[in-house]
Amino acid sequence: MSSLRAPIKSLGQNFLVDRNIIDKIIGCAQIRPDDALLEIGPGRGALTEQLAQRAARLVVVEYDHVLARALTEQYRGNPRVTVVDGDILAIDLAAVLGDLPGGWKVVANLPYNISSPVLFRLLEQRAHFSRLVLMLQKEVGERLVASAGCADYGVTTLLLGLWFDMRREFIVAPGCFHPRPKVDSVVVSFVPLPKPRVDVGSEEVFRRVVKGAFAMRRKTLFNCLKAAELAAPDELGRLLDVCGIDGQRRGETLSLEEFASLSRHLTGGREKA
Ligand code: SAM
Repeated sequence: MSSLRAPIKSLGQNFLVDRNIIDKIIGCAQIRPDDALLEIGPGRGALTEQLAQRAARLVVVEYDHVLARALTEQYRGNPRVTVVDGDILAIDLAAVLGDLPGGWKVVANLPYNISSPVLFRLLEQRAHFSRLVLMLQKEVGERLVASAGCADYGVTTLLLGLWFDMRREFIVAPGCFHPRPKVDSVVVSFVPLPKPRVDVGSEEVFRRVVKGAFAMRRKTLFNCLKAAELAAPDELGRLLDVCGIDGQRRGETLSLEEFASLSRHLTGGREKA
């Protein structure tokens, strides 16, 4: 599909123009003829065309009405392809995917300006998916697969790492897109786990502990968690001792297991209260 209109920067429109990269993304998705696929932001359809040829079913969600209309025209008459003219952050995704729980694969070159909220949306809806293959800004992708102690390690590493096996597939240079983005990109694949990697007690408490621990990178864990008001300071000190975690450490030094232990103990404290 071609479109004469200039790409819209505010919609993160950096279209893939490198056939080799398109083929590599398709390879990572491990598509079988009976697969159902969701593509977020099909744009001018560079990936869409390849996806539509390989799967039993393809749903694409595009926010740009002009591009959505062009895709609707292009795939009119192809009953396997559905074009949704909408915002991936706002549509009722469960209703779109509802009739095939656990059966969907997601493939997307994401609009970078909304990649974090999209990741959290996909995390929420993880029960629908068997695999995700996402192109992200390199910096965002590096954070996902970072190890404890690295500067990149943080909230997304832990919250997504609890529910997904994530693998950095390959780096993509700016020249593979039109227009060229300012930064490198990376393709990351995600396989949802049947249950969380570790028991965290309440997931809401786990989210608050993790977000609290990274809210002020220069402060100690104890001060960060105190500011997050997860427990009274005395109780917080006691729980850190029980977990064998030094409150003077920084959040980025804690492993997922240590965060989980803290979360379980804080959950226990709340349940008793
Ligand atoms: N898949 C195409 C490709 O690889 O060439 C386009 C990728 S481009 C990086 C991102 C696409 O996402 C654009 O077509 C943009 O219009 C679309 N988009 C931006 N925000 C969106 C949203 N909230 N929901 C759905 N699509 C969105």
